Formats: sequence, C-alpha cells, structure tokens
Amino acid sequence: AAERLANKTILITGASAGIGQATALEYCAASNGKVKLVLLARRLEKLQELKNTIIKDYPETKVHIERLDVTETEKIRPFLENLPEDFKDIDILINNAGKALGSDKVGNINIEDIEGMIQTDVVALINFTQAILPLFKKKNSGDIVNLGSVAGREAYPTGSIYCGCKHFVRAFTQSLRKELVDTKIRVLEVAPGNVETEFSLVRYKGDADRAKKVYEGTVPLFADDIADLIVYTTSRKQNTVIAETLVFASNQA
Ligand code: NDP
Repeated sequence: AAERLANKTILITGASAGIGQATALEYCAASNGKVKLVLLARRLEKLQELKNTIIKDYPETKVHIERLDVTETEKIRPFLENLPEDFKDIDILINNAGKALGSDKVGNINIEDIEGMIQTDVVALINFTQAILPLFKKKNSGDIVNLGSVAGREAYPTGSIYCGCKHFVRAFTQSLRKELVDTKIRVLEVAPGNVETEFSLVRYKGDADRAKKVYEGTVPLFADDIADLIVYTTSRKQNTVIAETLVFASNQA
C-alpha cells in the first residue's frame, strides 16, 4: 500500500474532526509520510492543530489547510484553481464532510435543518465531484470516495432527511462509477454504521448528554476504523474497485 500511495495528493473535506481527521493521519501512517494532503473545514484552528501533529510525526508530508464551508458552492472551483502549484494535481478526493441535524418526525423538521443536511451531504458532494472530474478525466486516473452510511441502506423513523441524503450518496456513487467504467477513475462508497465522533454532538446541537447516550451500551466504531478502510480501498491495485463497503460495529444490529 505504501508504494501505491507514495506521492499522491489527497483532498479531504471535513478534515477538522472525526473520520476526516483520522483519514488524514491514516494516509500519513500508511505511506510513511509520503503523501500530500489538502485539508479543509470551517474550523481552521482545528486544521492547524492537525497539521502540526502531522508535521511533527511526518516531517516530509506536505500539508495545505484551508478554511472552506463546503456549502458555499461558488467558492469550490476557485478554491481548487487557486491551490498552491504543489497541491493542484489531486489524485484522491474524499467527500467526507456531512451531518445529520436533529432527529424528528417529518412534520417537525425545520427548513434550516433540512437545507443544512441537503446542502452539506448532497449538494456539496456533487459540487466537489463535478469540480474534480475534468482533472481526473484529463489524466485518466483518480479516486473519488464518498462517505455514505448504513442510513443509506435502510431508513429509520425520525431520520428521513439524513437517510434520504445518504441513499442519494449511494445512488450517485453507483451511477458515476458506471458512467466512468471505461476510464481509470474509481468511484467508491464507504458506508459506516455507528461511529463515535462529533457527529452526534452536531446532530443534537451541542447537547452532550443526548449525544453520549447514542453510544451507551454499544461498542461503536471509531474514526480510525473508517479511516483504515478508506485508505485500504484507495490503495488497492488499479484493477480492483471496492465499490461499496458497509461497515458495522461488531455489536450493531
Ligand atoms: P464529525 O461531526 O465528527 O465531523 C464532520 C466534519 O465535517 C468536521 O470536520 C466538520 O468540520 C466538517 N464539516 C461539517 N460541515 C461542514 C461544512 N459546511 N463545510 C466544511 N466542513 C464541514 O462527523 P463524522 O466524522 O462522524 O462524519 C464524517 C462523515 O461520515 C459524514 O459524511 C457522516 O455523514 C458520515 N457518517 C458518520 C457516521 C457516524 O456514526 N459518525 C455513520 C455513517 C456515516 P467543521 O465543523 O470544522 O466545518
């Protein structure tokens, strides 16, 4: 894997926490620091901390951090166009930024939360994909990894919008993979079950007690378990496409 990852440039959306952050670290570990990372999120200070950690452990890793709200559609193409020369030639796009906002019956979900989920989980993922495709097509290579979810396999009550968004991610990934089947561009979906990250805190809008309860009595997956899979799927030989990976914690039904 280290050889196949060497010198790759990897763009991770939502790298300031959780799965995105763990994925950045895992790419460094798996390549012995021989990757270039483009890391973005809204909390620049968290990205700076991550960059410091990476550079301390892997001095040869090149890291570019930038504050970008992925829902600001008009900023995505300029962001890619204005990347420093050294980071422009992206090889792997990880569409990771995503969220659930609240958990409620359809009639009670407010429009801000609905739009927040659709903008982040769906529209931003489409925008990044569209923006990267010309580069990948030009060089006839590149991996796009979309973070789906078990919520994209089976919908549960009070999760209608989030489940809908993640069903979209699966469908979009499948469709694009088939569209690009005659190219060397790979389109992959990693769909986790319950992972202990800031996800529940965001979902319950900072209510730490409620967020904590989500993981009570279970052994959830951790961000580095998912990071490990993302790195695994993108470091297979070119002839292998792990199109979908559904991952459960061992005790999640
Ligand atoms: P976290 O809440 O821990 O991390 C989410 C990341 O996305 C943060 O870095 C956050 O950074 C970033 N982000 C959120 N909104 C934006 C935005 N508008 N612009 C830029 N960055 C943004 O969640 P996870 O790591 O758990 O989730 C990552 C992905 O995995 C998501 O797509 C989620 O749906 C999926 N997933 C998670 C599961 C879980 O149980 N945790 C299960 C299945 C799928 P910042 O706030 O700094 O912008």
